[in-house]
Amino acid sequence: MNLANQEIKKKLWMLASRIHIRFQANPNRIHTNPNWALIHPLKNRTERTRWGSTYERWSLLLILAVLLSCGSLVDDKELNDAAKEITKEQMMDHITVLSSDAYQGRGTGTEGEQMSVDYLVAELEAMGAQPGVGDSSFVQKFPLLGQVTDTHRMSVNDGANGINLAFYDDFVAWPSNQRTEVDVQNAELVYVGYGIQAPEYDWDDYKGMDVEGKIVVIKNNDPEYDENLFGGRARLYYGRYTYKYEKAQEMGAIGAVIIHTTPTAGYGWSVVSNSWSRERFYVKANPDAPENPTKFNAWITEERSSELFAAAGLQLSDMLEEADNPDFEPVVLEGLSMSVNLESRYREIFAQNVVATIPGNDPELKDEYLVLTAHFDHLGVTSPIDGDAINNGAEDNAAGVSAVLEMMESFKSIQPEMRRSVAAVLVSAEEVGLLGSEYWAQHPTIAPSKVTANINLDGMNVYGPTNDLVIIGLGRNTMADLVVQEAGKAGRPVYPDPAPENGIFYRSDHFNMAKVGIPAIFPNPGREFLGKPEGYLEMIDSLSAANYHSVNDEVNEYWDLSGAEQDTRIFFKAAMNAINAEQQQQWAPGDEFEAVRLKSLSDN
Ligand SMILES: [Zn+2]
Repeated sequence: MNLANQEIKKKLWMLASRIHIRFQANPNRIHTNPNWALIHPLKNRTERTRWGSTYERWSLLLILAVLLSCGSLVDDKELNDAAKEITKEQMMDHITVLSSDAYQGRGTGTEGEQMSVDYLVAELEAMGAQPGVGDSSFVQKFPLLGQVTDTHRMSVNDGANGINLAFYDDFVAWPSNQRTEVDVQNAELVYVGYGIQAPEYDWDDYKGMDVEGKIVVIKNNDPEYDENLFGGRARLYYGRYTYKYEKAQEMGAIGAVIIHTTPTAGYGWSVVSNSWSRERFYVKANPDAPENPTKFNAWITEERSSELFAAAGLQLSDMLEEADNPDFEPVVLEGLSMSVNLESRYREIFAQNVVATIPGNDPELKDEYLVLTAHFDHLGVTSPIDGDAINNGAEDNAAGVSAVLEMMESFKSIQPEMRRSVAAVLVSAEEVGLLGSEYWAQHPTIAPSKVTANINLDGMNVYGPTNDLVIIGLGRNTMADLVVQEAGKAGRPVYPDPAPENGIFYRSDHFNMAKVGIPAIFPNPGREFLGKPEGYLEMIDSLSAANYHSVNDEVNEYWDLSGAEQDTRIFFKAAMNAINAEQQQQWAPGDEFEAVRLKSLSDN
C-alpha cells in the first residue's frame, strides 16, 4: 500500500479509537445477552449510558464504514493469512508432548517442570522469539515455600468454661507470616462485617476502628442485594476470601477469621477443611520485608461461630444481616478472647516461568507489550486411580499453552507489521495458588504500565466448534471489546461469565495481571456447539467436571480441536489490533482495577 493511504488510515484510526473509548463505556451496545444488566459487574448505570450524542454515534458509524472499506492498519489479508497458520494439528502436537506421561503431570518444582521449560524454550527459540528475561534468558526462576501445619489449637475464653474448637471439624488455621510458631494469647475479637473498604462505593466496614493486635471476624462474599453495589449478584474481588485476609493485614489485625456459610462461600465446609489442611505454597518472602502484623488466617464453621456470638450476647444471623447495611459499625465480641497456637514446617522449592518476546517496530510504541499468559504447570503425580497416577493436564492447561505458542508463531510471521511488541509469559505454580503469575507481577520483566493488555488462556475448547464465545471480564475493559469486534466479523456472539457469583475472574493468572492494573481478560469456550446432537452440552459439562483435576484429563479420542483453532485465530487478531491500536487498552470507568491502572500510568 502507498504511504499516503497508510497516513489516512492512521488518522482515521486515531479518530476512531478516541470515539471508540466512549463507545466502550456502554457495553450494552456490544452484545446481546438479555441477562446482561443483571450480571454486569459495573453497575453504575449513569457511567454506562453516558456515551455520546447522536452526532458521535453517527460519526463512529461513518468512520467504521470508511475503515472497513479500506481495511485496518494491517492488511486484512495479511492478518488472515497469519491467523491461518494457527492450526489444530500443530496445537495437538504441543498438547500431545506436554501432556504425555513422560512429563509426569508437570508438577511445580519437579523434573516434569524442567522438561516442560526445556520444551517451551526450544519451541520459542526455534520460531525466532527473543529471550524475555534480561538479554539472554527465557527463564525466570523463583523460590516457593511449601507450608505444612502439624499442630493446630484454637480456644475462646468466655469468662466461664471456655470454648475449645476442633481442628478440621470446627476450624482451619495457618500461619500468614511464614513462621514455624504462631502463639496468640487472649486477643480481643472484633466482627467487621464484610471487612471491605471500597471508596468507589462509599463503603467502609472498619469505620476508623483500630484493630491492631485484635482478631477480626469476617463475613464472606460482598453485598448482593443492589445491582449498583459490588456488582450485585456477581462476586467482585471484595467478595473473595483472599481480599478479606489482605485487608485485615493492611489494617494491622493480629489474626483474621472468616465465618463459613455455604451461601457466602459458594461451597460447603468440606471444601474449606480439605483444601486448607493440605500443604500450602507461597512465594518465599524477602527476608528484608517488614514483619507481617497478621500472624494467622482461619475459617470457622457457621455452627461454632454462632456459639461464639451467642457467648457475647449476639445473634449470628442478625450480625450477618447487619453487614449489608452501609452504616454497619464494627462490633466487639464483648467478654471473649481467643488464643491460637500453630506449629508448622516448611520446604523450599524452585519454580520457573518462561518468558519470550517478539519486538514491534514503532519507535514510540515498541516498548509497550501485549502479554499472553498460560500456565504450563499441572498437578503432577498423585495417588493412583485404577493404576494411573499421572495428572496429564491436557485440557488444563497444555491446551492454553499450545494456543499461546501458535499465536506467537503467527506474530513472528507478521512481525514487520507490529507496532507494539508481544510477550508470552508461560507461568508455573498456577495450580498451587497462581504463584508463577504472582511472582511475575511482583518482579515484572515488563513494567505493568507498559503492558497494554493481557489475554490469559487456561483451558481451551476441545469438544468441537461453537457459535459463541465466553469472555470472563467482558465489558470490563477495551481488550474484551476488541475480541468482541473480531468475533463479530466471524458472526460469533460473545457472552459474559455465566456464573459471576463464583468469582472466576479471580481464579486464574490474569487476575495477578489485573491486580497490578493491566487490562486483562480470560476467554472461555463457548456453549453453543455446532452440528452436535441434543444434550451434547450437558454431556460435555459432566465429562469436563469428571476430568477436571483428575488423571483423566488427557488427550481423548473424542477431542476435536477445530473450535480451539477458530477461537485462537480470533484471539490472535484481537491481540494484533491491540498491538497496533493508537492508545493502550483501558479499564471501563469505575471498574475495580481502574484506580490501580491510572496510578501505575501516572507513576511512570
Ligand atoms: Zn488451569
